[in-house]
Amino acid sequence: MKVVKFGGSSVANAEQVLKIIAIVVADAERRIVVVSAPGKRHGGDIKVTDLLIALAKAVIAGSDHEGALQAVVERYAEIQRDLGLPGQVVAEVEADLRERIAKRGGNNLQFLDTMKAAGEDNSARVIAEAFRKQGHAARYVNPGEAGMLLSDEFGNAEVLPESYGKLAALRDVSDIVVFPGFFGSTRAGEVATFPRGGSDITGAILAAAVAADVYENFTDVDSVYAMDPRIMPGAPAIDRMTYREMRELSYAGFGVFHDEAIVPAVRAHIPINIRNTNRPEAPGTMVVPERKYEQAEVVGISSADGFCAIYIDKYMMNREVGFGRRLLQILEEEDISYEHTPSGIDNLSIILQSAELGSDKEKIVVARIAAELAPDNITVEHGMALLMVVGEGMHYAVGMAARATKALAEAGVNIEMINQGASEISMMFAVKEPDRKRAVHALGSEFFGRLGA
Ligand code: ASP
Repeated sequence: MKVVKFGGSSVANAEQVLKIIAIVVADAERRIVVVSAPGKRHGGDIKVTDLLIALAKAVIAGSDHEGALQAVVERYAEIQRDLGLPGQVVAEVEADLRERIAKRGGNNLQFLDTMKAAGEDNSARVIAEAFRKQGHAARYVNPGEAGMLLSDEFGNAEVLPESYGKLAALRDVSDIVVFPGFFGSTRAGEVATFPRGGSDITGAILAAAVAADVYENFTDVDSVYAMDPRIMPGAPAIDRMTYREMRELSYAGFGVFHDEAIVPAVRAHIPINIRNTNRPEAPGTMVVPERKYEQAEVVGISSADGFCAIYIDKYMMNREVGFGRRLLQILEEEDISYEHTPSGIDNLSIILQSAELGSDKEKIVVARIAAELAPDNITVEHGMALLMVVGEGMHYAVGMAARATKALAEAGVNIEMINQGASEISMMFAVKEPDRKRAVHALGSEFFGRLGA
C-alpha cells in the first residue's frame, strides 16, 4: 500500500482538491491520504496556517478577532462552494474555530498549536467529504484518536515511539483514510504541532507505521532539482538520491521536503517518491537507501542565507583540555543550537543561524566566552551564507574539493570557511551572503556543466 501526502498548494482550492481525488483513486494502493492546510492560491496569497496564527495572536492580545476568523472560514467556504459540498461543511468549520477559542487554557503556546492544527484538521474533514461527494468511500481520521502521540514541545513536537504500534491499525481500514498532517496529541490529550511544514513528517510516520511500500509526497514541482531553479535556471532534475543526500540537501535550503520527515522513512526503509500534483504522470524523484554512485558523484548543491560565525582565537588552544566542551556548554546553557564547528590549532569557529543570537543573546554569549575561556580574540560575523555540495559519490572520487575551490576562486568568491563532514557525503562552504548566487553558479557549472542562463 501507499501513503500519499499532499502539500498546501495541492489543497489550496477546489480545482486542486479534484486533482488529488483523481490521483488517489487512480491507484487502489493509495489508501492513506495526508493533507496539509490550504496553502497559497497565487503569489500574494496567505496560507491558512498563517491566517490561523494571526487569528490566535489577536485572541491572545484580546483584540477584535472576528475579521481574522472570517478570513479563515472564507478559504474553506470557497472550496465548499466550488466543489458543491453542503453548506453545513462551512458552518462546521466556523463552529470548530469558535470552540477552539472558547476552550482556550492558560498556555499560549498550546493555544497557538490548537489553532494552527485547525488548518489541517478542517482540510481533512472537507476533503473526506469531497471524496464521498465523488462517490468514493473515504473517512476522516482524527490523529489523536488514531494514536499520533507527540511530545509536549508545542510548536516543535516530536513523535513518541508508542505511536507507531497504534497507528499500524490504519492498515486495516477499508475506506480511504484522510488524515490531517502537522499535528497530534500529547499524552495529556492536548493538541501539539510539529515544526512548520510538518505534514511531511506526519506522512512519513504513517508510512512507517503501516509499513507502506512507498511514501508518495505530492507537491508542486516535477521533481527535486540539483540546485534551486530560481538561482540556477535549467538545473537538472534528480531522479534518484539516497536518504542521506536528501537529508543534507533539505537541511540547507531545499524547501521541497521537511528534513525531519526523512527519519521515520529511513528507520522503516520506505522509499520516498516526491511528485507533482499538477503533473502526476511525471515520475518525480525517488529517495532510496542506496544508489549507484558512479552515475553522479554530486547530486545537488543547496544554499541558504542567514548564518553567522563566532571566531575564537587562543594561543595554545590545542593543549587546553576541555576548551571545546566548555565553549559548547556555554551555548547549551544559553539554549543555542549550532550547525558546524570547524577548528584549527589555535582557533575554533562556530557557525550558527543568526536567528539563534538575538541581540541580547549575542552580548551574553560573547561576554561569557571572554570571561570563562579567556580567548585572545573573539569576533562575531553576520551575513554569511552556507553552501552544501552533496553526493555520496564524492567519497569515491578524487579531487572534488580541489574542483570546488578552484571554481569558486575563478568566480572571485572568497571562501570564509570550509568543512567536510567525516562521512564525506557533503562539503560545506561559508561565503558572504552577497556572494551566494555567484557561488552556486560557479559550483553548478563545475559539477553539472554549463546550464540555462
Ligand atoms: N500547514 C503547515 C504549515 O504551513 C504544515 C504543512 O503545510 O506541512 O507549516
